[in-house]
Amino acid sequence: MDFEEIVCYSQTVILIVLAIGYLVNLRNKTDVSSKVEIKCPSCGYIIKDQNVQYCAKCGNMLSHSEGLSLEK
Ligand SMILES: [Zn+2]
Repeated sequence: MDFEEIVCYSQTVILIVLAIGYLVNLRNKTDVSSKVEIKCPSCGYIIKDQNVQYCAKCGNMLSHSEGLSLEK
């Protein structure tokens, strides 16, 4: 009976450790993915893919758009 109690206790500890590790992994993933977001300067459309250079909504060029004012 004592041996079963020890097994039960150790299984609970392992489950808690696994849950903590899972939560830490989940937090790291959300922190990384939340930064990958570009907002179109001309129309405000949110582009989630950083590799895209043109806005899908208005066709505005996203690269080299900061600091340069081509439209006047
Ligand atoms: Zn746009």
